[in-house]
Amino acid sequence: MRANKDNSFGILNYHRVAPRVAGVLAPTWNVTPARLRNQLAGLIERGHRPWPLRRVLECRLCGEAVPAGIFVVTFDDAYDNVYHNAWPVLKELSVPATVFVTTAYLDGRRPFPFDDWPAAGSDAAPELSWRPLTAAHCAEMMESGLVEIGSHTHTHADLRGQPELFRRDLTRSIDALRERFGLRAVCFAYPFGYHCAKITAVARRSGVRCALTTEPKIVAPGEDRFSWGRFNVGRFDTPATLSMKLHGWYAVVHGLRRRLRPLAMLFNKKHPSGAISS
Ligand SMILES: [Zn+2]
Repeated sequence: MRANKDNSFGILNYHRVAPRVAGVLAPTWNVTPARLRNQLAGLIERGHRPWPLRRVLECRLCGEAVPAGIFVVTFDDAYDNVYHNAWPVLKELSVPATVFVTTAYLDGRRPFPFDDWPAAGSDAAPELSWRPLTAAHCAEMMESGLVEIGSHTHTHADLRGQPELFRRDLTRSIDALRERFGLRAVCFAYPFGYHCAKITAVARRSGVRCALTTEPKIVAPGEDRFSWGRFNVGRFDTPATLSMKLHGWYAVVHGLRRRLRPLAMLFNKKHPSGAISS
């Protein structure tokens, strides 16, 4: 593998993996199984290599270099369609992944209370497009060795500003994963991607190995492992856009846009009819 000059890597984050249904509003936070396959196969063709979260974490803890082009795949919330639609793709392409489970809803027969897709739970949407993961499917994926399970809190409640409630919700979820699946080392992803000093401090003290946000940035050396960023992957992402993000170009482009915004505003004031599109 190529040497990695800046010793950084990137983490991708998926949620729902379901086909479109004709006549129904497109599912939120979704990529189709075909799109998932195209994105992951395309990244591998471009020289990127998927590693389990465990492995990049070990490298960081031991001070070992991470080779160039390494990326990590994660899924938040734990839909059962990850088992039915994503896992076959992961197996076919030998892509390891971590699924962050909201433990209160394992084996649930109703949509997640935080699922913002209006069709979730309705007759119009196939159950598989919104149903939570089952414990049996979790166990089967874990036994394959390709999939790790992590915590996404117990209830996925938005507990920003309420560190004590957050601590309880996280602890309950860690305990559930230990009891049900015998997990020892637990990785964690913040619900809604949120983190702040007090919440991060709770995660750090809780015993989880790392905590992932959805701040769209690559993981550079020295980055606090309790606030590693991830890129949410959407249905419009192609292997080319994902490769750019994993190379750190996303941050560069957004930084430039932020810097250019005052100039664009000035231009728009002087030339109201010739606005620069953002
Ligand atoms: Zn979530």
